[in-house]
Amino acid sequence: MESRPHIVIVGGGIAGLAAAYQLVQSRLPGEAPPHITVLERAPHWGGKILTERQAGFVVEGGPDTFLAAKPWALELCRELGIAERLQGTNPKQNATYILKDGRLHPIPGGLTMMIPTEFGPMLRSGLLSWAAKARMAADFVLPARAADADETMAGFVSRRLGRGAYEALIEPLMSGIYAGDGDRLSIQATLPYLPDLERAHGGLLRGALAARRGREKYGSPPQPGSRSLFLTPAGGLGEIPAALVEFLTAHGVELRAGAAVERVRPISPGYELALADGESLSARAVILATPAYVSGALLAESAPELAGELAAIPYVSTATVSLGYRADQIRHPLDGYGYVIPRTEGRVALACTWTSTKFPHRVPEGHVLLRVFIGRAGQEGAIPWNEPGLIALARQELAQTLGIAAEPVLTRAYIWERAMPQYNTGHLARLERIQTELAQLPGLALAGNGYRGIGIPDCIHSGRAAARTIRAQIGAREETEKTP
Ligand SMILES: Cc1cc2nc3c(=O)[nH]c(=O)nc-3n(C[C@H](O)[C@H](O)[C@H](O)COP(=O)(O)OP(=O)(O)OC[C@H]3O[C@@H](n4cnc5c(N)ncnc54)[C@H](O)[C@@H]3O)c2cc1C
Repeated sequence: MESRPHIVIVGGGIAGLAAAYQLVQSRLPGEAPPHITVLERAPHWGGKILTERQAGFVVEGGPDTFLAAKPWALELCRELGIAERLQGTNPKQNATYILKDGRLHPIPGGLTMMIPTEFGPMLRSGLLSWAAKARMAADFVLPARAADADETMAGFVSRRLGRGAYEALIEPLMSGIYAGDGDRLSIQATLPYLPDLERAHGGLLRGALAARRGREKYGSPPQPGSRSLFLTPAGGLGEIPAALVEFLTAHGVELRAGAAVERVRPISPGYELALADGESLSARAVILATPAYVSGALLAESAPELAGELAAIPYVSTATVSLGYRADQIRHPLDGYGYVIPRTEGRVALACTWTSTKFPHRVPEGHVLLRVFIGRAGQEGAIPWNEPGLIALARQELAQTLGIAAEPVLTRAYIWERAMPQYNTGHLARLERIQTELAQLPGLALAGNGYRGIGIPDCIHSGRAAARTIRAQIGAREETEKTP
């Protein structure tokens, strides 16, 4: 029997690859490297990170940038030696618009952490009625809520700034991140810095003003060397999983694509994994870097309580449709990063990114690329989940809002089934119960977007944290096993 501990990671998205990377890095000097296997159901690595090149266009199927203020993605890129490849978004035309009554309005300047801190632009904005603007100002005098109870995003923001500001401003910005329903999402689990502002300063406007003045800092400041709020490698986000795969291969990690896991059960010592092709693997430790409902299904027989909690984390399906045109087909100036669509507009599209303005180098000369996001919590039934249907829907959105009726020269749709976890109220309490259940299963860890952050930096952080937990547990167990 092999003396090196065998550690299996299930899921080769960014969280699983980051976990494998951390296991390699955690090796102590002189220590034999662990035997690490990563099992990925799909034929490609990177999960939701999927960059494709077609006819000179760089097309992102899933995410297109990561937030520089959360340090973990930038840190990893530096460690992998690809930080020089990172670029910011085009600083010259960085407006973003919000759709209201079918018309695009620029997001008023001076938002800090989504909260207005400059009142001139807010007062001039056509996004809010005068009554809604006056209601926002009431935030200065409304008392802060004493209790720290879980509250919905809509409930919290409406309580402070009014329902008008929530629906016209905060909901569309937040929807672009979570594809969620603010009447269900937990403010504490999604945007915890907002209740923190209320607690610390008595209100959101006061708190955001204070943060803006730099008197206090909430969240991590941008990392030194980062040039933009959002970063991405020059050739697309796919460069990050590619660099990870190269590193892991060079360090002897066994990477098995097309290997779906069906069941995980504890054995003594460790775990046994049953693969869809009938093979079974044993491992000292397992990291499940799969969506929470998949992890739940894998554990359904052996740990039903934990499985039940995991399965109860809801996920929403979404899609992106990229449409390329010759620039001479488009009359709209596309003078910004694109627009977001409030739920109250009643559309199934969520947002539209003007990719060729955001990243001018990603299209062939004389062309433009637009990307429409489709699908949000509660509206999935209204969407045709097939490529022709999605393309037709995206073209309808572009015709309605930007007046684009031309035939695209490139069309590409990506369907992301049950992709966006919803941190609804009760999510944080569920995570505590999951933690309690996991404590009964040493050598098993969870990683990925289902738990404490859906952004790429959060997923990298969760993968690396899971690896550190496993490393500490295996190290401790080996010490115990050696003790007579
Ligand atoms: C359209 C879209 C746009 C986004 N935009 C951004 C953005 O701009 N910036 C940002 O930071 N974040 C963005 N996100 C969120 C971010 O991309 C994801 O949260 C993140 O990539 C998830 O990584 P993960 O490793 O947790 O999961 P995944 O990428 O889902 O990886 C899980 C892996 O597990 C595999 N798997 C599943 N079941 C099994 C099984 N039984 N056996 C073996 N393998 C299995 C899957 O095939 C998959 O590869 C976006 C997400 C989407 C869908």
